[in-house]
Amino acid sequence: MTRGILFVVSGPAGTGKGTICESLLETENVFLSVSSTTRDMRKNEVAGKTYNYISVEEFESLIAEDEMLEYAVYNGNYYGTPRQTVEKELEAGRNVILEIEAQGAMKVKAKFPEAVLIFVTPPSIKELRKRLVERGRETEEQIEERIQTAKWELGQACKYAHILVNDDLDACVAEVAEIFRKTTDERNHIEDLLKEI
Ligand code: 5GP
Repeated sequence: MTRGILFVVSGPAGTGKGTICESLLETENVFLSVSSTTRDMRKNEVAGKTYNYISVEEFESLIAEDEMLEYAVYNGNYYGTPRQTVEKELEAGRNVILEIEAQGAMKVKAKFPEAVLIFVTPPSIKELRKRLVERGRETEEQIEERIQTAKWELGQACKYAHILVNDDLDACVAEVAEIFRKTTDERNHIEDLLKEI
């Protein structure tokens, strides 16, 4: 069985990476990993679907038991990818998407150099701020914090294999789907070549 491909989608808060990943699930046969977090659940979020909401103690024991494929502290909360679920999907030959921030993405890149990293950017910082205000999830102070975090995150973008601009959601989703298809074709081709040797 050919191992699935691990895709990582990152980008500053408000770039629409969550919506992009959700849309991809409608057309692509891909598994979207559900992360664990210690942050509070927001309105409209669903436990077990948006995140697994756990305590700091639970999170730290999962780290100690090596149950996190990667994790990071973002704006004072832990976020992490459950290792076993992702490994099981990859082993079963299914492609997996991790929608995670850049510190975690760099850890994934170090552990799995074959992972495909995609960085989604907003068309402008003005537009990013507007989207953050419109979605109404954060206070004004938190929005400023997220913009400052975006400065560091944008500095990591050059380490990603693909950098996309999300100025049109459908076009951006199509672009990511194309990256999925192209990567799958490329990897299959290499496997076919190796079988011939
Ligand atoms: P939010 O609190 O807005 O849902 O997420 C904050 C940031 O954490 C986002 O950039 C999101 O992509 C990232 N994130 C979500 N899950 C994970 C994870 O498992 N690991 C890491 N490193 N970041 C995550």
